[in-house]
Amino acid sequence: ALLLYNCNSTKNTLSTNNQNTNNLDKRVDSLLSLMTLEEKIGQMNQYNGFFDATGPVPKNGQAVQKYENLKKGLVGAMLNVKGVKEVKALQKIAVEETRLHIPLLFGFDVVHGYKTISPIPLAEAASWDLEAIEKSAQIAAEEASSTGINWTFAPMVDITRDARWGRVMEGAGEDPYLGSKIAIARVKGFQGDLTSNKNVIACTKHFAGYGFAESGRDYNTVTVSEEILQNIILPPFKATVEANVKTFMNSFNELNGIPATGNSFLQRDILKGDWKFDGFVVSDWGSINEMIAHGYAKDSKHASEIASNAGSDMDMESYAYVENLAKSVREGKVKESVINEAVKRILRVKFEMGLFENPYKYCDEQRERETIGKAQFHDDVLDIAKKSIVLLKNQNQLLPLAKEGKKIAVIGALANDKTSPLGSWRIGADDETAVSVLEGLKKYTGNQITYTKGADVAVGRTQFVWETKINTTDKSGFPEAIQNAKNADVVIMVLGEHGLQSGEGRSRTDITLPGVQQELLEEVYKVNPNIVLVLNNGRPLAIPWADKHIPAIVEAWHLGSQAGNAIAQVLYGDYNPSGKLPMTFPRSIGQLPIYYNYKNTGRPVMNEPESVFWSHYIDQPNTPLYPFGYGLSYTKFEYSNLKLSSNSFSKDGKIEVSVEVKNTGKTKGKEVVQLYIRDMVGSFTRPVKELKGFEMIELEPNQSKRVDFVIDEKMIEYYTANAKWEAEQGDFKVFVGTNSLDVLEKDFQFK
Ligand code: BGC
Repeated sequence: ALLLYNCNSTKNTLSTNNQNTNNLDKRVDSLLSLMTLEEKIGQMNQYNGFFDATGPVPKNGQAVQKYENLKKGLVGAMLNVKGVKEVKALQKIAVEETRLHIPLLFGFDVVHGYKTISPIPLAEAASWDLEAIEKSAQIAAEEASSTGINWTFAPMVDITRDARWGRVMEGAGEDPYLGSKIAIARVKGFQGDLTSNKNVIACTKHFAGYGFAESGRDYNTVTVSEEILQNIILPPFKATVEANVKTFMNSFNELNGIPATGNSFLQRDILKGDWKFDGFVVSDWGSINEMIAHGYAKDSKHASEIASNAGSDMDMESYAYVENLAKSVREGKVKESVINEAVKRILRVKFEMGLFENPYKYCDEQRERETIGKAQFHDDVLDIAKKSIVLLKNQNQLLPLAKEGKKIAVIGALANDKTSPLGSWRIGADDETAVSVLEGLKKYTGNQITYTKGADVAVGRTQFVWETKINTTDKSGFPEAIQNAKNADVVIMVLGEHGLQSGEGRSRTDITLPGVQQELLEEVYKVNPNIVLVLNNGRPLAIPWADKHIPAIVEAWHLGSQAGNAIAQVLYGDYNPSGKLPMTFPRSIGQLPIYYNYKNTGRPVMNEPESVFWSHYIDQPNTPLYPFGYGLSYTKFEYSNLKLSSNSFSKDGKIEVSVEVKNTGKTKGKEVVQLYIRDMVGSFTRPVKELKGFEMIELEPNQSKRVDFVIDEKMIEYYTANAKWEAEQGDFKVFVGTNSLDVLEKDFQFK
């Protein structure tokens, strides 16, 4: 057995070739047969980076325990270890000092870049550009892997409908179709060819339901129907299994009464059963022990039994498995076959990555030096940053701005901030490394630019201390900003959230502009209404006043290392904005949750003649401020001639759909043509629209183009009341247009 473990090659193990698969299984089994129970459980244990492994051996505290366990072969993976030197030192202990020499995995939250930072994922989703998104993940993988990391905890694929939740910045927004396409692009970008040392294994998270936290409060209870779970939440997860993702992370929340970490329906029945996922599941940070506070486990030992039995293969930083599981197996509370299955999954991934052949394949200090922050990476993140910007309003074509001859006042603390654009979840990057908006604006113009802060956004900031006093009340900077605005032709106000006001643990009950920024905006408007409002934020904001008064509004999110350059290129017209919102922008917090794929009630819908008894609010319309899929361009697109090849189809058949799109403006531009459907009657009631296709086209002025889609059975499938995915017969509508509200429509039937 030892011979097999040591000598066989893992080359090409990723092909579907049966012999290779068998070979891989044999190697895994062979190694497993050599392991003690404790060593097996050790593979299921992941520790956070704990001491300077290149320095002296730790003498006391938790670090000693971790160090001792590492030497005994009781650790399978680490996380948050930074840099080749440190990774190499730890890997050396694992492969040279332990009995079986099994290499470690090194995980890290490479969410939107490691040191060179791409836009936050929600922003990237606004590009609807799958190639650019894949590229962004690929360069993140290349940079991170050069530092010794071989596993990223991304993509986060949680669908969400509530902008109060701080982690909306980390996902692809509210739609399962767009979310699935983006999830696949990210997995491909990260994982690429797994055997290459320029890729990292990906981790689809958080399984499942985390984005539906009640009231948008992070970690909160999740209660959703089977119908919503299957049709809205699960599709992007499933898509990544089909894209061969190697790991999954479960989540902190409970789902319908059972914590996700201890949820066997999710992990065993769906993920490993129905979907045949062949990688492994890691818990979220400490989530095994959190089941005690949830009221689902009485102590850590009980929690480790529940989690392992439910299919959580690796314990991230709960210490629950390494401390308890062996005893539980001896007592018969956990079968050894459960442990074997988990360990096989973990070892299999390590073999597939070629780690046994070369445990140091990611540990090349010269490559690390040459790779970190490469100029090419900056070009690439600038490209995706431009594509992520969404033009929300542009009255009287205030934008793009002329590059010469203007006096421009730039106002807002965020304009002069080199850290905020990096956004949340960029723990490998250094502060103060982004191109600020002000730097970008100055670089691209001969205009006279004067800057005043006006007001701070927040009081202080810290990466890991959950900030409570986020709002400032200090208005002492107003007069200077107002004076600046008075003297200018155009005012560019950069307002919104600091990069650390969204993200994990950053839920907000108020999603208007934080602090005194709204007041600042209104005061400046009084003296100079010629304002371009540039929003920096990690979630949809409620900005109804700005929408009503401010002539130009640009959604620029947290765009990463090249933020200022990307924003300047858009404001000066070097790039014609093409982004579309991946999440609905509400008028107010009171409308949340709000999403385009809602259901009708039995009452008249919005915009119908008013009656007290229609489903509405008495103080605000039902409609959003900006709908899903919305985004303007410096040019105009006109849709016409929506045609179907037939008005019905049946099993194995299809309908061809075509539409004409014409650029009727004066500038070349890109447009995302969106296709939605509606099933009029179903065994479950259906959303009023479901995105089912999109295509990005680029048109010269006056050019028009026919865009084609195909409606087939797969496209109209739904998880129905019959508890399966199926296409139900009956009447449908198809809609094609520039966003989820502004569409042309036609009827068709599936017979
Ligand atoms: C987050 C995960 C993350 C993990 C490790 C947790 O708090 O929920 O998304 O991967 O920490 O940093």
